[in-house]
Amino acid sequence: MPLPNDPDNPMGAVPPRATLGRRELLKLAGGLAGTILATDGRAIAGAAQQPAPSAGRAKKRVIVAGGGIGGLCCAYELVRRGHDVTVHEAAGRAGGHVRTVRDPLADGLYVDGGAEHFTRPGYELFWGYVKEFNLTALPYGRRRENMLRVIDGKLHTEEMLADPKVLAGFGFNQREIDFLAREPWWKLPALYYAPYLDAFHDEYKPFDAGLDRLDQMTLTDLLKQDGASAGAIRFIGGSSSALHSVWHAGLLKLRGVPLFPPEVFRIKGGNQTLPDTFNARLGERVRLGCPVTSIERGDTGVRVRYREAGHEKTLEGDWLVSAMSLVKLREVPVTPAWPEVRLEVVKGFPYYTASRPVFQSRTRFWERDKVSPNIIFNETALEHSWRMADDVETDRGLLVSTAAGFTTADDALATFRKFYPGPSEDIEQAFVIDWARDPWAMACEPVNYAPGRLRRFWPKVIEPEGRVQFVGAYADNLNWGMEAATRSANRVARAIDQA
Ligand SMILES: Cc1cc2nc3c(=O)[nH]c(=O)nc-3n(C[C@H](O)[C@H](O)[C@H](O)COP(=O)(O)OP(=O)(O)OC[C@H]3O[C@@H](n4cnc5c(N)ncnc54)[C@H](O)[C@@H]3O)c2cc1C
Repeated sequence: MPLPNDPDNPMGAVPPRATLGRRELLKLAGGLAGTILATDGRAIAGAAQQPAPSAGRAKKRVIVAGGGIGGLCCAYELVRRGHDVTVHEAAGRAGGHVRTVRDPLADGLYVDGGAEHFTRPGYELFWGYVKEFNLTALPYGRRRENMLRVIDGKLHTEEMLADPKVLAGFGFNQREIDFLAREPWWKLPALYYAPYLDAFHDEYKPFDAGLDRLDQMTLTDLLKQDGASAGAIRFIGGSSSALHSVWHAGLLKLRGVPLFPPEVFRIKGGNQTLPDTFNARLGERVRLGCPVTSIERGDTGVRVRYREAGHEKTLEGDWLVSAMSLVKLREVPVTPAWPEVRLEVVKGFPYYTASRPVFQSRTRFWERDKVSPNIIFNETALEHSWRMADDVETDRGLLVSTAAGFTTADDALATFRKFYPGPSEDIEQAFVIDWARDPWAMACEPVNYAPGRLRRFWPKVIEPEGRVQFVGAYADNLNWGMEAATRSANRVARAIDQA
C-alpha cells in the first residue's frame, strides 16, 4: 500500500547520525560568542552567552521530553530567553527523525534517513536557523524533474501523463483531461480544492471558513459531489476529512507554497546538521539515553521520572514540554490522568510509519541508460526513488526511496528491478533504514484525520494541558515535517517565556 501523506506523491494511485566529527561540532558550537567548550567539544552548560529572561520575567525550569528537532529547537529558544532547560532524549542520539546515515556507505556518501528536503517558499523558520548557523542549503538537484510513474504496472513519463488519449484511458472526464493537458499531473487536486481555498483567512482557524460541513465527509465524497471522475477519485481521493485536506491546501496558498513545490533543498552534509547544531549549542543540557517514564502534573509545576543507565531518577520543573510523538506519549503514565478530550487526542491521533530503502551502485547507471531515477512506483516495498548526495565526489551512485515500514532490502530491490527499464546490474549494496523498528521513533508523522476528528483534535492538539506543553511536527496547523516541528517549538518557547 502506498504511503499516506506522501509529499512526493500527491496523486498516488491509492491514497497513501551520522554524527558530525568533533572538529565540526567545535566549529558549530563555537559560533555562539562566549561559548566555552569542554574537551569533548560540547558547549558547557551555562557558559554560553545567554540573554536575560525576557524583560521582568522569572527564569523557569523547563524539562523537555524528547530530543528530536522540535524538542531541541524549543530548548534552544528557551535557553536563548534565559531559562533553565534540560532535554531528556530516550535514544542514544539526538535528532529523532532527522537522521543522516553514512555507515555502511562508501566514498563519503550519505543519506537522510528521515526528513530529506525542505522548500522555499515554506520552511521560513527552518531557513532562519540555516542562516543563523551558517549551514549550506543545496538545491536538491533534479529531485523533482522528469518524474516517471508506474500506473497499472507500466512506467509513464510526464509527457504521457499530459496526453489526452492516455488520460482518457484512466477514466478522467473532459474537464480533468483539459486541465492535465496543460498543468502538471501533481496539480490535479488543485482543480477541486480551488473553490474552497479563499475561505481560509486565519491559518489557525479551519472552522472560521464556513466549511464545517466538509469535516463530516471524506475527500472522496467531496470529489464525487463536485463532479470528479472515477479516474480522478482513484488518484486523488481518500477516506480522511475533506475539510482537513482543503484546509491544508488553503494554508499552503496563504503561505504562497505550491501543493508540490518543484524546487526543494537539503542541507549539505545531511539535514541532521541542524539538530546536531542545536545539540552542540545546548551542550550538557541534553541528556541522551534518558527516557521519560512517568509524568506528575501539578498546578504550578511538574515532576517526571526518567531512566538513566539503569537507574530511576526524578526531576522537577515549572514546565514540561512533551516533544515525543503522541504514540510514545500514550505509553507514559500520567498523574492525574489526562482529561478526557486530551486523552482522546493522545490516544487517537493517527500516524504512519515508513522505511527508507537505499541502493548504492558502482556507477550512476541511470545516466548511462538515459532514464530518470525519479520514479514513483506506488508499491508497498517501494513508493518512490530519487538520487542523493550528488555533491560527493565519486563515480558511485546513490538512490534513496521511501517504502512501508518493515520493508526488506530484497523486496525493495526486486520492486526496483521489476519496473526500472534497464539492467541496474551496477547496484552493489541495498539496505533499509526502517523507522518501524525504531523503539522511540516508529511513529513517523501524522496522517490526515478521519471525518469528524478535526473538530475533536483541533485546536486541542496545540493547546497546553496545565503545565504541560506539546511540541512536535504533529502540534502545528500544517502538521508535517521539520517546519511544523520548529514552528511548534517557537510557539511553545514564547508561551512559556511569557507565562
Ligand atoms: C521517511 C521520512 C521522510 C521524511 N521526509 C521529510 C521531508 O522531506 N521533509 C520534512 O520536513 N520532514 C520529513 N519527515 C518528517 C520529519 O522527519 C519529522 O516531521 C520531524 O523530524 C519530527 O520531529 P519531532 O521533533 O516532532 O519528532 P521526532 O523526530 O519523532 O522526535 C521525538 C523524539 O522523542 C524521543 N522520545 C520518544 N519517547 C521518549 C520518551 N519516553 N522520553 C524521552 N524521549 C522520547 C524520540 O527518541 C525522538 O528523538 C520525514 C520523516 C520520515 C520518517
